[in-house]
Amino acid sequence: MTTEFVENITEQALRRAGAVIRQGGLVAFPTETVYGLGANALDGAAVRRIFEAKGRPQDNPLICHIASPDAIYSLAREVPEAALRLAREFWPGPLTIVLPCRPEVPSEVTAGLDTVGIRLPSHPQARALISEAGVPIAAPSANTSGRPSPTTAAHVLEDMGGRIDMILDGGACSVGVESTVVSLAGSVPRLLRPGGVTLEMLRSVLGEVEVDRAVREQIGADVRVSAPGMKYRHYAPRAPVVAVTGDPQRSAAYILSELKDGDGVICFEECRPMFEGRVQYLHSLGMASDPSDQARRLFDDLRAFDHCGAERILAQCPGDDGVGLAVANRLKKAAGFHVVEV
Ligand code: AMP
Ligand code: MG
Repeated sequence: MTTEFVENITEQALRRAGAVIRQGGLVAFPTETVYGLGANALDGAAVRRIFEAKGRPQDNPLICHIASPDAIYSLAREVPEAALRLAREFWPGPLTIVLPCRPEVPSEVTAGLDTVGIRLPSHPQARALISEAGVPIAAPSANTSGRPSPTTAAHVLEDMGGRIDMILDGGACSVGVESTVVSLAGSVPRLLRPGGVTLEMLRSVLGEVEVDRAVREQIGADVRVSAPGMKYRHYAPRAPVVAVTGDPQRSAAYILSELKDGDGVICFEECRPMFEGRVQYLHSLGMASDPSDQARRLFDDLRAFDHCGAERILAQCPGDDGVGLAVANRLKKAAGFHVVEV
């Protein structure tokens, strides 16, 4: 299949992309979190093509993207007051709310769960596309399953070129990690995936929020989790990754003491002088004090190592405060939870 790459997202291009979605095709599009690979969420056959293009395990559910808050009622069977409070506070934005789903939502979207994840993105071109399509758009990240999520259209082309109908290039993503996922389907709100809307922000609106074990630990293949995607290795570049947590000066010293030929390093900007000239492949994650900047850079850094042929990647990992929890979660998953605490 030839993939149309749209460098300039005109109204006409959005109309064509909306028609591709309505007709059961696949369009990769920019959002504020990462690039999404979209299909008509109400068309099970179209959604199946997303799984084929990505090589995604069938038991990993997709998020439905909507363009206006009212569309939540077309997908969710129950909308508790807490969901409305979250929507008022954080939509449009990088927050997915998991709710009991209506029977019309295809099982391909929910992976057979009786819940559905719903998000109203803030990216203007994402919203314009959903409006043009006239249907909710089911979209996971537009990468080959297991690889780092795409934060530029070039990343999408690398993984999806020749496999999907269209790629819309809207520049680099402003958040850089996938949406926060919070489930309101149980008795207590539960954070399933950390993201740009932080745990602290959720607690300020909801009070008590539990953090799912899968956010911080490896989950065994035999364990039942509320989102099956949580147990797969994820976000991984070709080379194995070691995530090193703890005080930046100490983690930098540990990495320096472990360095071998062929290693790549991801370091905090402040620690860069310690590594310059000592390591062949070096990428900065941004300042240790700025996890939002780290979130924007992380996936591009991980992909960059694939192009230079690093044999192992040693990465400084931030702590769990604010957006740091999301960066640390992605980095630890990329490392298959090979984490060293110094
Ligand atoms: P991705 O598009 O790669 O960001 O994957 C979508 C992710 O959204 C899944 O891996 C889950 O973490 C989450 N998700 C989507 N729908 C549900 C749901 N019904 N219940 C729990 N988590 C969900
Ligand atoms: Mg993904």
